[in-house]
Amino acid sequence: MKIVPNSSSRLVTIALSFGLFIQFSSNLALADQKRKVGSNQTSNSLSAIDPTIYASPTKSMQTLLSDLVAADTTNPPGNEARAVAVGAARLKEAGIDYKIIEFAPGRQNLVARLKKNSGDGREQPLLLLAHIDVVSADKQPWSTPPHQLTQKGEYLYGRGLADDLGSAGTALETLILLKKTNAKLKRDVILAWTGDEEAGGAGIKFLLKHHRSLIDAGVALNEGDFIRLDEYGKPLFAGMQVAEKVYQDFELITKGQTGHASIPVTDNAIYRLSKALDRVGQFQFPRRLIPVTRAYFTERAKIEQAPLSDAMKQLSESTGQEVGKNSGFPPDALKVVETNPHLAALLRTTCVATQFNSGTNPNALPAEARANINCRILPDEKIQSVKEQLEKVIDDPQVEVQLAGKFGHGPASPLTGDTPEVIRKVIHEVFADIPIIPSMSTGATDSRYLRAAGIPAYGINPVPLAEEDARRFHGIDERLPKSSLKRGIEFFHRLVLALAGAPNQSLAETTNTSTNNSN
Ligand SMILES: [Zn+2]
Repeated sequence: MKIVPNSSSRLVTIALSFGLFIQFSSNLALADQKRKVGSNQTSNSLSAIDPTIYASPTKSMQTLLSDLVAADTTNPPGNEARAVAVGAARLKEAGIDYKIIEFAPGRQNLVARLKKNSGDGREQPLLLLAHIDVVSADKQPWSTPPHQLTQKGEYLYGRGLADDLGSAGTALETLILLKKTNAKLKRDVILAWTGDEEAGGAGIKFLLKHHRSLIDAGVALNEGDFIRLDEYGKPLFAGMQVAEKVYQDFELITKGQTGHASIPVTDNAIYRLSKALDRVGQFQFPRRLIPVTRAYFTERAKIEQAPLSDAMKQLSESTGQEVGKNSGFPPDALKVVETNPHLAALLRTTCVATQFNSGTNPNALPAEARANINCRILPDEKIQSVKEQLEKVIDDPQVEVQLAGKFGHGPASPLTGDTPEVIRKVIHEVFADIPIIPSMSTGATDSRYLRAAGIPAYGINPVPLAEEDARRFHGIDERLPKSSLKRGIEFFHRLVLALAGAPNQSLAETTNTSTNNSN
């Protein structure tokens, strides 16, 4: 995880999982004090939930997290089979059927399903997705052993707790709670723990390619954004990730005449490539607001302070399409917003040189030069048109532009409709009337494969976190507030019931597990 503090805007950019960027503002606590909070809305169908049912899953979740942290699924190499064994044992004990899908030696996904048991609804299943691999803690000076769950004060420490073992644990405990309480389900609820998210998503790709029916769903919940807490644990706002930029590398290749460096020729591979790179460096793709970024700036403006709040509001109300010399954006507002590189990156497709390779000897003319251009493409733009644009900008047929690697991508998930409405409603039930901000990640999660496969995914981590917790993703002393375990389970349980539960059920935990939920 990278942290890029920006003192001028007092914003901190946090890079999560594979470069997923999320913004936090130190102004939020102040802004929050001005807002009215605490309206205690409850849903008719869910108000009957007995809150004491969350005590036992919360306790059990801490043990589960302890076992998952100790499983040490550092990727590479992954060893996700160790975490899968932990989850499978819990599911077996609860009487829930599951499947273990191996995608490489020692590397597994875990998939479980509660079947619908109420009504004749034809709604496609709800998928709860979480990855179980973690990034390395090597060479990081932790204050606790990274692969041992350690409680210090009000926090639990351990590698992977926030990204993404907390979600994995919450989803599993939610499934078990649904089973124990004989929840009436109008659609199947699927749990999928995937491996390799941190290094390209081999786990989810394998499931989609070879076991699509196991995880086929009408909608998915995954990591991607958060319920944000202030330093006292009070909810500030919720981020709901509905889109990701598309990751695509391009390789630029030039050839040149070789020979002794004492006799230079004009046809030099390094100079040719340098010229091309310079042109790419000067070029900027047009700024464009897409529905999710427009909504992001609209909502975000409500919790920021001037001048950023005003600038965001003006941006969100502009035409938001840069065509030729007409920027389509109010220039003063742009200036304020683009001071922050993360916010600037939301406005357009970006391409940047990240690697350069050439030459064999200091005294020999290079036969070839290669550079990598890393692009992050707005989700509704085409990779091929970005390639054509790069070729046009480079304007030299002797510079070859090649696609390098394929990371997959999908369209944004809808901002309106049943699922996002239900998510908003449950957030307000559990965390009062905090603002809900739709977001587009500049990086990527497993959701890109789901969206590409036609399964809309919503990125909202169930375990609420403060800024200070979230900035530890991939870093030293990764942690969760202990009190967030129960809140996370309550939120997720209510959310899953609101999305998949039959209406008007009264839930209390029971020891009777002989239900027809399992399959
Ligand atoms: Zn993650």
